[in-house]
Amino acid sequence: KAGENPQIKPELTQKHLEATKGMVITRFPPEPNGYLHIGHAKAINVNFGYAKIHGGICNLRYDDTNPEAEEQEYVDSILDTVRWLGFEPDNVLYSSDYFQELFDLAVDLIRRDLAYVCHCTAEQIYEQRGGANKGPRSCCDHRSRPVLESLDEFQKMKEGRYAANEATLRMKMDMEDGNPQMWDLIAYRILYSSHHRTGNKWCIYPTYDFTHCLCDSIENITHSLCTREFTQSRQSYYWLCDALEVYKPVQWEYGRLNVTNTVLSKRKLLKLRDEGFIRDLDDPRLYTIPALRRRGVPPQAINAFVRELGVSTSSPIIAVERLENHIRDCLNEIAPRIMAAISPVRVVLTNLPEDYLEMIELPYKSNDSSFGSHKVPFTRVLHIDSSDFREVDSADYYRLAPNKSVGLQNIPFPITCTDVRKNADGSIAEIFCRYENEGKQKKPKSFIQWIAECPQLGSPIRLDEVRIYNPLFKHANPYDETVVPGGWLSDVDRDSLQIYKGAIAEVGLWDLINKHAATESGKKDIIDRHPENIRFQFTRMGYFTLDKDSSMSVADAAKTTKGNDVKLIMNRIVTLKEDPKK
Ligand code: ATP
Ligand code: MG
Ligand code: MG
Repeated sequence: KAGENPQIKPELTQKHLEATKGMVITRFPPEPNGYLHIGHAKAINVNFGYAKIHGGICNLRYDDTNPEAEEQEYVDSILDTVRWLGFEPDNVLYSSDYFQELFDLAVDLIRRDLAYVCHCTAEQIYEQRGGANKGPRSCCDHRSRPVLESLDEFQKMKEGRYAANEATLRMKMDMEDGNPQMWDLIAYRILYSSHHRTGNKWCIYPTYDFTHCLCDSIENITHSLCTREFTQSRQSYYWLCDALEVYKPVQWEYGRLNVTNTVLSKRKLLKLRDEGFIRDLDDPRLYTIPALRRRGVPPQAINAFVRELGVSTSSPIIAVERLENHIRDCLNEIAPRIMAAISPVRVVLTNLPEDYLEMIELPYKSNDSSFGSHKVPFTRVLHIDSSDFREVDSADYYRLAPNKSVGLQNIPFPITCTDVRKNADGSIAEIFCRYENEGKQKKPKSFIQWIAECPQLGSPIRLDEVRIYNPLFKHANPYDETVVPGGWLSDVDRDSLQIYKGAIAEVGLWDLINKHAATESGKKDIIDRHPENIRFQFTRMGYFTLDKDSSMSVADAAKTTKGNDVKLIMNRIVTLKEDPKK
């Protein structure tokens, strides 16, 4: 229970309870050195969720003590991501808010003779910790220098009178302890690097080990929830709070979340970009949250996925198909259906007159009138997806083939293929069909999507690109050297992005885009209005969204015919069904 840690002094508990009124306080503590990823979605759900079920509060605390890696862009993106997932931090705080307080605590620690300024090199410290052979450990001479000397030296560090690497502040812990986290960890190091918030005010920065527990303590965090790689750090966390006699939160660890066929670590993502495998850190094949968002994944699906996994201490690699199932479930509920062809082929209904035009009413979702409906033209010339036609028929094939009939979605009569015209290269130029609108017909076994040629109504809409995403890595675990001997980078599937340039869609798409255009008024550009919120199903093909590489103003969308400067780029969010090969 909050404030009932028996190991801390009663007066500290008293002060803590006065500040918190017995409330649970958690924090989500990202370092602003990259975009958040699917693993962070778990951390967010754990911290905000735990506070919520106990009627407490959860802070967002930027753990910004590494100025070399941190950027304002990531600070902004992280808050945006937390909110997009549906959580609102009770306070937005920064470790750098406490730089002065942390410095004062460091001075206090030196005064207590529990920290010393050390001039050993990184190699020397490594050797003192037993070196490569994990041999005997030793202490350096600086460890026993007088308190006043360390105070003086620490001041010099702060004043910039040492070069980087010439001095550190180390905690005087216990070199005999079996836990490496007790081997005189570094509390402060010198970095001549400008900080995104404090500028050049400081040239010494506290380490994670020094900062994290003390910020938790200052903020009266009741439960410091973190991932399991910090289990060993629990001892140093408690040691420092006790050493300074400050309020000590309770640390609990949970397992990290990993998913298959991807990598999450920020350094690895930068490498992928720098090596040219991806263009942006929000490439929709990645599992950063901005990438998932851009791909069209709804936040509810991400939250449902991490909640289903629950909070355990194990860190398994979860099959990405489980996330995809949540995405499908969610999109099935919210996505209107329209017809499109990724690789279209022309179909002429030879028995219809040239100027034949019938308007067909299409529901946005069959058997669900709450989605509404729209009208599309039906004319003598249609386009179907080339995957729905085969020149060589077989008994188990139920779509279009020579002398075979197929149904068209929402059209009363089937069509029968009577002839085919080919291009010089052997590809299909046109399929000739009879529209079977006379006499009684057998109900077709399957119904395919179609898009009519009707220039005066802007049909079909030409899609500049349809981007189909497959897993970026070929193996479930790209780090497993037994199946990926060449290392994780060699496991990248260079064909994981497929781009179709000739795709088309029916005019219902304008209607959906215009409904979306009504959101976030004030922005003239559809793309600034988060086009990923326009999610739809291309019937029989998958769920799709508009990528931010598209370009279209609100005025363009209202014209409902595609002008030359409009660019429509679609992302496939997910297929309709799980791939049966897996
Ligand atoms: P990475 O290097 O993968 O981005 P990190 O741990 O360095 O991870 P932080 O920004 O420090 O990233 O993480 C903020 C919080 O999110 C921490 O509490 C951390 O434990 C938690 N977290 C990070 N990765 C995961 C994960 N894969 N699963 C669950 N929680 C995670
Ligand atoms: Mg970290
Ligand atoms: Mg990291």
